[in-house]
Amino acid sequence: MSDTTILLRAAHFAARRHRDQKRKGSTAEPYINHPIAVAELIASIGRVTDSLTLAAALLHDTVEDTDATLDDIGREFGPDVRAIVAELTDDKSLPSEERKRLQVVNAPNASRRAKIVKLADKSVNVADIARDPPPNWPVARRRAYVEWAILVVAGCRGTNAALEKHFDGLAAMALATIRG
Ligand code: ZN
Repeated sequence: MSDTTILLRAAHFAARRHRDQKRKGSTAEPYINHPIAVAELIASIGRVTDSLTLAAALLHDTVEDTDATLDDIGREFGPDVRAIVAELTDDKSLPSEERKRLQVVNAPNASRRAKIVKLADKSVNVADIARDPPPNWPVARRRAYVEWAILVVAGCRGTNAALEKHFDGLAAMALATIRG
């Protein structure tokens, strides 16, 4: 598969799997806008051209949030992309607080590619919380999310300086917005 084919195939796969989902913000954007924003940030700010990282970014929420399985990812995109998506998929049988704790604990052991996707994913989510927070999230919950994202990103440092700096700016902006 060419780099272009794998990226377009990943975008198509993710768009189909997320087709009935919306983001949590008040504007309820189509969910697919999120993985596209994550992949775009990795390419533009992170200057990453590795097609496996970018494909995994497009696919990063498909197993966690849709009926797609890791075996589907492996069949369509091969074992390398499958392994990255597996690293980015929480165990949904665990309570949310435990999943959040495990993300912090496991981040330093993630592969370089998974760390890059995590950095961009947290950047996009923190920017969304500042710009268009879920309307039912009180300020304390928004602040807790940003503070948790800072801890996950701490475990991903030393991977891509531009993405790390970008996250830092967004997190500071989000906290300032939340404080009012
Ligand atoms: Zn995500």
